[in-house]
Amino acid sequence: MINISETAHKPNLQSTEPDVLAAEIIDRLTYSVGKDRSVANNNDWLQATILVTRDRTIDQWMESTRETYRTEGKRVYYLSLEFLIGRLMRDAVTNLGLMDPMREALKSLGVEFDVIAEMEADAALGNGGLGRLAACFMESMATVGVPAFGYGIRYRHGLFSQRIKDGWQQEYPETWLEHGNRWEFDRRESAYEVGFGGSVSFEENGEGKYTWHPAERVIATAYDTPIVGWKAERINTLRLWNAEPVDPIRLDAFNRGDHIGSLHQSNRADALTRVLYPADTSEAGQALRLRQEYFFSSASLQDILRRHHQQYETFDNLPEKVAVQLNDTHPAVCVAELMRLLVDIYGLEFGKAWELTTGTIAYTNHTLLPEALESWPVPLFEGMLPRNMQIIYEINARLLKSARNEHGASDDAIREISLIDESGERRVRMGNLAFVGAHSINGVSELHTDLMKQTVFRNLHEMFPDRINAKTNGITPRRWLTQCNPGLTSLISDTIGREFQDDITLLKELEPYADDAAFQEKFAAAKRENKVALSNLVRERMGLSISPDTMFDIQIKRIHEYKRQLLNIIEAVSLFDQIRSHPEKDWVPRVKIFAGKAAPTYHNAKLIIKLANDVARVINADPTVRDILKVVFIPNYNVSLAEMLVPAADLSEQISTAGMEASGTGNMKFALNGALTIGTLDGANVEIREQVGEDNIVIFGLTAEEVAEKRANGYDPRELIAGSPELSQALRAIASGVFSPDDPHRYRDLVEGLYSHDWFMVAADFDSFSEAQREVDALWNDPSVWRNKTILNTARMGWFSSDRTIREYSRDIWNVPL
Ligand SMILES: *Cc1c(COP(=O)(O)O)cnc(C)c1O
Repeated sequence: MINISETAHKPNLQSTEPDVLAAEIIDRLTYSVGKDRSVANNNDWLQATILVTRDRTIDQWMESTRETYRTEGKRVYYLSLEFLIGRLMRDAVTNLGLMDPMREALKSLGVEFDVIAEMEADAALGNGGLGRLAACFMESMATVGVPAFGYGIRYRHGLFSQRIKDGWQQEYPETWLEHGNRWEFDRRESAYEVGFGGSVSFEENGEGKYTWHPAERVIATAYDTPIVGWKAERINTLRLWNAEPVDPIRLDAFNRGDHIGSLHQSNRADALTRVLYPADTSEAGQALRLRQEYFFSSASLQDILRRHHQQYETFDNLPEKVAVQLNDTHPAVCVAELMRLLVDIYGLEFGKAWELTTGTIAYTNHTLLPEALESWPVPLFEGMLPRNMQIIYEINARLLKSARNEHGASDDAIREISLIDESGERRVRMGNLAFVGAHSINGVSELHTDLMKQTVFRNLHEMFPDRINAKTNGITPRRWLTQCNPGLTSLISDTIGREFQDDITLLKELEPYADDAAFQEKFAAAKRENKVALSNLVRERMGLSISPDTMFDIQIKRIHEYKRQLLNIIEAVSLFDQIRSHPEKDWVPRVKIFAGKAAPTYHNAKLIIKLANDVARVINADPTVRDILKVVFIPNYNVSLAEMLVPAADLSEQISTAGMEASGTGNMKFALNGALTIGTLDGANVEIREQVGEDNIVIFGLTAEEVAEKRANGYDPRELIAGSPELSQALRAIASGVFSPDDPHRYRDLVEGLYSHDWFMVAADFDSFSEAQREVDALWNDPSVWRNKTILNTARMGWFSSDRTIREYSRDIWNVPL
C-alpha cells in the first residue's frame, strides 16, 4: 500500500524504491498536473513523471552551484544560438540512475515508460550538427565535472517540421511548447535590458565617456533547465532567454483607440525569440537574425558579469574565473559587447578591457564554406548597434596598425585581416572579429583545422600563430549508445562488465571478441532487433515493407549539395539499371534510407529531396528489383528519429566532397553503434579511420588536396562523365524524365549543373564510390568478416566521446582543472 498523504508533503528524494517513486508520481499528477489518476491520460502521466524526475535534480543542482561558489571555481559559459536537445526524460532518468525503478513505478500504475517517453516533445532549437554538438557538450560538461552554463534562445518555434507531399518538402511550424515545458524554471528575477538603435553621446571630462542612448529596449528573461551528468555527480544549467517588452501595452495609445499600435513594442519583442532561423550553413541576411544574435549575447554577458562581480567585486581576475566559448560566429558580437560593458558600464580603460576580453573569450569555427562566413552590412550593423560599431572600428584601428607596424603585413594581408570587408558593400566580418577577440580559435577536426590555417584565417594565423588549435568533435555515449541502443548495451555489459559506462574507452575490451563466433551471433542479433524496430516504424509511417535481413544503408543529415545525397541517389539509379540488366547476378539486397531537412529557400536541396522520392517511387514499384533494392525517404529527421535510425544501420554514408565537412558527428554515432562507414577522407572520417583501422572502413574518392588542386587547375566534368558509361546512363535517365514522367524536365537543370561545373565533384568521385559500394557488397557476403569489422568499430570508437572533447577544451582552452 502506498501512503500518499505521507509522501505528499515530504517526498523522499534519495529513495530509488519504485513504490516511493510511484507515490511521488501520483502526488505530482494530483497537485501539479491537477488530474485524478482515474482520468489521467498518457500525456498527464508524462508531465507528472517529468516533474518527479526534475525534483530529483534540484538538491544536486543547487549543491553544484554552491560548490563552484565555495571553491571559487572557474565557470565555463557555452554560448550557442542553437541547442538541438531532443527529448530529455530518458537522458535525465538514466543519468540519475532511476531507469529501472522508474519503469517499475510506472508499471505499478499501469503506465509504460517507453510509451510516455515517446510522447515527450523533441526540443529542436537547432538545425543540425552544430546545435547537436552544443547539446552533447552540455551533457558531457556535467559528466566530467566542468561548472558550466549553456546560454541560448528559448525559441517558441524550433526547427520546422517537415512533411513530404507528392515527394516535395513542405514546412510546418513546430510547437514544442504546446503542452508547456515541465523541465524549465522561469526566472523572472534574472532579467536584463537589451537596447537597439539610437545614438551615442560623448562627455569630455577626464578620459571622456561614451553613452549609448538606445531607441528601443527589450527585456531578456531567463528560463533554466537542469542538465544532469552521468550518475548525477554534477548538474549544470542551460539558460535560455526570452524577449519581453518593457511596456507590454501602451495604454495611452490603446485608450486613443489604436489597439494594434499600442501593442507594437510587445510584438517586436515577441518576434525576437519566436523562431529559429532554418538556414543551415548559409548566412541568413536578415536584420532579425542580427537582433537575435545581439540580444542573447548581451543578456548572457550581463548575466556573467553580474555573477562575477557579485562574487569577486573586481574584473581583474575575469580570465581566471570565466571562460566564454563562442559556438561559431553567431555570438561573435560578444567581443564588442564585452568591451562595451567593461568600458562604458563598468568604467574600465580600453586597453585593460581588451586584455580581459581576449583572455576570456574563445571561438569555435564550424565551417569554411564562403557563403557561410557571417558578415553584416556596415549600415545595418551601425544603425542597430552604434556603440558596438564604434568599438569595432577602434579594435580594427589597433589591429591594422599592429599588423602593419609590428608584423609587416602587406596591403593584401591587411585587406584580409581587417574586420571590415571592403571588397564590395562594406561589411563587418564576424569571423575576423571572433578571431581577434579570442585567445583560442579551434577547428572541429584535425583536417578542418589545417584547412582553416591555409584558407579563411591564413593571414590572421600568421599574425597570431599560437591561437588556432584542433578539438575534434564528439558525441555523448549516454544518448548515442546506452539510451538509443539498450540491446547492444546489455550485450556489452554481459561481455566486459558495466564499467565501460563510466569510461567509454573500455569498449576496447570488446576487441578479443571480434572473432568469437558466439559473440558475433549476439552482436548481429542485437543489430537485427534494432532493424526490426526500424522496419516497423517505416511500415507504420510510410506503409512500406522493408526486410530486416537486407543491408540497411543509411544517409541522414541536413540536405546540402556538399554532403552529396545526389551522389548516393545517382549511384542507386545506376545500381537499379545494373540489376535490371543482370538480374541473374548474386546482388546483395539493400534498402537505401534517406532522411534530412532542406533549408526552405535552398532550391537544389529541395529538388534533391524530390528526386530521392521520385527515384524511390519508381524503384519500389519495379518487380525486377523487388527484394533486392528499395529506396526510402523518411520525413522529419530530428534527434528522436536519429535515435531510431543510428542503431539500425549496417552502412553509414559519410560521402561529402573532401574538404567541405568540418567534422561530422553523425559519422561517429553510426560507427559507435556498429555500422561500417563508406566515406571520403573528410572531417572526422580521417580520424575515424585512424581509430578503427583502415581495414574496418571503406574509403573512396578524392582527397581534400586533390579537390583543391582540381579546382585550381580546371576541372572538366563533361569529359569525366563521358568516360563513365554507368554515370552517363544514370544521368541521362534522370535528365530525360524516367523518374519524373509527370514533368520530364524537372531535373534537367540539376543534371546540367553536373555537366557544366559540378562544384561538389560528384562526377569525379562517382566511379570510385560505385566501386567502393561493390566492395561493401563483397564484405557483406561474408558475414563473419562483416561482423568482425562492425564489432571492431564499436570497440574502437570510444575516443569520439564528447567527454574526451570536453576534457581537451578544459585542459587546452579553458584552463579548468578536472
Ligand atoms: C548528429 C545529428 C546531426 C549531424 O549529422 P551530420 O551527419 O554530422 O551532419 C544532424 N541532425 C541531427 C538530428 C543529429 O542527431
